[in-house]
Amino acid sequence: MKIAILGAGAMGSLYGGLLSQKNEVYLIDIWQEHVEQINKNGLIIQTAKEEKIYRPQAVTSAAQAGPADLVIIFVKSVHTDTALAQSRELFAEHTIALTLQNGYGNDEDILPYVQADNLLIGTTASGATVLQAGKVFQAGIGPTNIGTRDNRASENIAKIVQLFNDCDIESYASDNIMEAVWTKLMVNVGINAVTALLDVRNGFLAESTAAYEVAEALVKEGTAVAKAEGYELNAAEIAEKYYIHGAKVVGQNRSSMLQDVDKKRKTEIEKINGAIVRIGKKHNIATPYNELIVKLINAKEDTYSLQ
Ligand code: NAD
Repeated sequence: MKIAILGAGAMGSLYGGLLSQKNEVYLIDIWQEHVEQINKNGLIIQTAKEEKIYRPQAVTSAAQAGPADLVIIFVKSVHTDTALAQSRELFAEHTIALTLQNGYGNDEDILPYVQADNLLIGTTASGATVLQAGKVFQAGIGPTNIGTRDNRASENIAKIVQLFNDCDIESYASDNIMEAVWTKLMVNVGINAVTALLDVRNGFLAESTAAYEVAEALVKEGTAVAKAEGYELNAAEIAEKYYIHGAKVVGQNRSSMLQDVDKKRKTEIEKINGAIVRIGKKHNIATPYNELIVKLINAKEDTYSLQ
């Protein structure tokens, strides 16, 4: 299959590298040095045990790749619209688009570019970081779940799940992916902004009662909004499972929002806590904790221009 990965940073490189084992893969990224390194020396994926070199093709523009059978969108959500607007050449009538980005509402940004029936959405429990141009680190391995935005059955789901499993990406078809998206959103709603503002690793939520209570309050608002959308999630269970027990497994992780803030990059706050505020308004549900934390992150982003 011809696969284009739009945004070949940490996750895009990880998926693109693995998929290149059995497919024609194009990594599309505006990061020129990364693209050059990959074409010259291959893409290196480092794990805790080994380093492997993969040979996808890397390009800086979609026009160099042309229409693909599958486009996986792996830019940060703030760049989805711009990246897609620059990449119309990737989409033919049959093209399947898949987003595994974090947050809520990525599918809506992609919808104008693809046939609605060909849009897939998913979650990934894998993690990665960029080490240097041409080299990424696979920080964690976890399942990928794939479904459709309205939980409708689609033969595309089984096709992509099979394709992923064939390339060592453990994947499952989901007939209720939106519940998984909401659950993952809740994990990010509690962890990301709090760790980014406090400049701490994820495990700090298990060490500080005050930080934990802020995260839990954010998630409580989130689950109230999720309920109004038809998804029954338990805030206390999520906080306990991911912030206390999860800290033992991924406590050393630095959240992606903390990494963005460190690098003075615009964060994905609008698709995470911002989504809770937006959907809350639609249902007349007050979300003061989430409103405040969105503003604090926006203010943090404003500090980037200070010397
Ligand atoms: P990243 O910043 O490492 O990679 C994004 C890449 O997109 C960058 O290399 C950037 O140069 C590129 N890009 C930006 N604008 C572009 C454009 N117009 N055209 C082409 N490329 C462009 O981000 P990441 O950590 O790989 O995260 C990608 C998505 O996956 C995010 O939504 C994130 O929340 C989600 N996610 C990340 C992880 C993780 O462990 N890193 C885990 C799960 C989900």
